[in-house]
Amino acid sequence: MLQEKDLAEELIARVRAYDPLVEEGVLSRAFVYAKTAHATQQRANGEPYFLHPVAVANILAGLRLDSASIITALLHDTVEDTAVTLEDIEKQFGKEISKLVDGVTKLTRLELQSERSKQSENFRKLVLAMSEDIRVLLVKLADRLHNMRTLHYIEDPAKRRRIARETMDIYVPLAERIGIQSVKDELQDLAFAALYPDAYQSIVNRLQYLKAQNPNLVSDIVGELTNILAKQGLDAVITGREKSPYSIWRKMQRANVTFEQLSDIMAFRVLVPDLAGCYQALGILHNAYSLIPGRFKDYISTPKSNDYRSLHTGLIGPFQQRIEVQIRTQEMHEIAEKGVAAHWHYKQGGAQTDGRQYRWLRELLEILEASTPEEFLEHTRLEMFQEQVFCFTPKGDIIPMPKGSTPVDFAYNIHSDIGDRCTGARVNGRLVQLRTVLNNGDQVEIITSRSSTPSPSWEEFVVTGRAKACVRRFIRMQQRSQYAELGKTMLTKMFRAHSQTLTDKALEPLLPKFKRPTVEDLYAAVGEGLMTTREVLNALYPDLAVEKQQAVDAIPEIKTRAKLRKPSRYAIPIRGLIPGMAINFAKCCHPLKGDLIVGIITTGKGVTIHTQECENLINFQNQPERWLEVAWEDETTESNVGRLSVMINNVMGGMGHVCTMIAKAGGNIANLKITNRTQDFFELMVDIEVRDAQHMLDVIAALRSHPVVVSVERYGSLNEPVRAAVH
Ligand code: MN
Repeated sequence: MLQEKDLAEELIARVRAYDPLVEEGVLSRAFVYAKTAHATQQRANGEPYFLHPVAVANILAGLRLDSASIITALLHDTVEDTAVTLEDIEKQFGKEISKLVDGVTKLTRLELQSERSKQSENFRKLVLAMSEDIRVLLVKLADRLHNMRTLHYIEDPAKRRRIARETMDIYVPLAERIGIQSVKDELQDLAFAALYPDAYQSIVNRLQYLKAQNPNLVSDIVGELTNILAKQGLDAVITGREKSPYSIWRKMQRANVTFEQLSDIMAFRVLVPDLAGCYQALGILHNAYSLIPGRFKDYISTPKSNDYRSLHTGLIGPFQQRIEVQIRTQEMHEIAEKGVAAHWHYKQGGAQTDGRQYRWLRELLEILEASTPEEFLEHTRLEMFQEQVFCFTPKGDIIPMPKGSTPVDFAYNIHSDIGDRCTGARVNGRLVQLRTVLNNGDQVEIITSRSSTPSPSWEEFVVTGRAKACVRRFIRMQQRSQYAELGKTMLTKMFRAHSQTLTDKALEPLLPKFKRPTVEDLYAAVGEGLMTTREVLNALYPDLAVEKQQAVDAIPEIKTRAKLRKPSRYAIPIRGLIPGMAINFAKCCHPLKGDLIVGIITTGKGVTIHTQECENLINFQNQPERWLEVAWEDETTESNVGRLSVMINNVMGGMGHVCTMIAKAGGNIANLKITNRTQDFFELMVDIEVRDAQHMLDVIAALRSHPVVVSVERYGSLNEPVRAAVH
């Protein structure tokens, strides 16, 4: 058995072979650190656990990765499996390594997710998105490769199957995407052997049998092909092999043939000096042997998305054997076997003059930028996945969403009903606000309630088109039904004031004239202020010739402030409607329940409620048709926010007194602003949540009772002092 010292030296020597300037000290420090951390831990086969990270590091050295990747491989299980923390690693090896180890640890934890989601394409995208640095993924792939090589030591067959399935579903496609053919092939065969041991064994047996029949067949064919090419002056290196058990298995599935019928089980690789040589070799071989139709593929002129380049063809070769031939240059071959890792190597031209291996990623990006279109390398798409976030449902399904998505986006993504009725969310088991931004791998549980409806405020933070559209549609529908309700109430009062009865049926003949498809639409148009109640009444009863709205007679009094007008039985009741829809409360005077109020109809915006004392009402005195008599409805229980203008003496603690007085009177300060400040006085604008106007009077009285307060008044009001309105 190798001594620990030999193991370390062997690894360092491998890295030094392709990176002469490697910092050997750091590498051997990581080696010792990992060994100490894993101490007496053991693998399933009874070997010291520590041999696993060393093996992973060796796999990566085989791919010629930078020393940061090798160090990460040595440390990759320390955070998850030992007492070592990320902080320890950062202290010992710096930020870059700790970030990489953190990335691998996160992927390891992700493996604990539900079985079901792992078979999905989205799970693979999640793994890609979480591998912010592609080296994280490379370490993870090497880790998995070594675990698969030692899978047979695990005794529980169910566990072996589970790991093999996961390898097939996640890691094989990922290795293929980033173009590491050698890792992909090995993972695939190992997983196949574990998943279908009988099929695997019978294919292996059959291959051995065929080989025994004709032990030198592969090398004989290699010899023939080499000769034919050499005769035409082409210097090619040819290797031959039996195809992998897995690819034979796939072929048997696809072609629906038995193993006995399957004849092309050999593949040959022709490595030529340059690009022109590829096509030259192809021409020579096609000339010398019959080709099998439909098998020729030119991946040189059209590379695969993982940048795989090669010519493929199928021939009836020497000795009448069906063979598969791949023709490529040495560089294409390296890229096929080592994927992104080889890109880096070629870019460097093999000469590690400055030895700074961490340039690897930047170099890779440069290569990507300089190269052909969207499809070029998975890495470009990997970045695309980082614009996405992948979250789990409680059942383990993965929902992909754009970055910045919130639980509301998640809810609408599942179903519009879930979105419409969502009231809260738990992320990873904790209650969060609906506007919380979700992260990769979060498990999200949506809390719904039958009676709940979307809030217009959601529109500000949702990011998915679907959620936006659903919230808007809901607001539109809600708005329309509120406008319709308001319009119907307005018309009913208007009709009653003229001793007429309003029925839906009576309005139907008017629909064509007003170009409204339904009576509901007509009501909504009135409520929205697009047409007046007078127009409707006059159209139905031309003889009445109503000229002005019934509420108009109230205006002169309000205008002159001679007296405030109490609501008549014709007043429109104001309920706790959703603000911003059919009914708005004016920002200038902040009406409170109990205030005497008046409505101003605004085209396309419904009705704005002002206090009758609001100074802005003067602006509407020449438009009597816009005035609407309104009254608070008794059962309104919601509190609303009133605004006070407060002047206090500029003394120590004055502001504190104001706050205390308001709180003692049961008001809740929603906002406070200093609007003016002199040597002697402070002027404040205070928004206070109160039950109603009477409650606000209590707050005002309380403030006035304190010596520090100079004056208090309702904001935007002409009248001083403020009068209470009584029903
Ligand atoms: Mn591991």
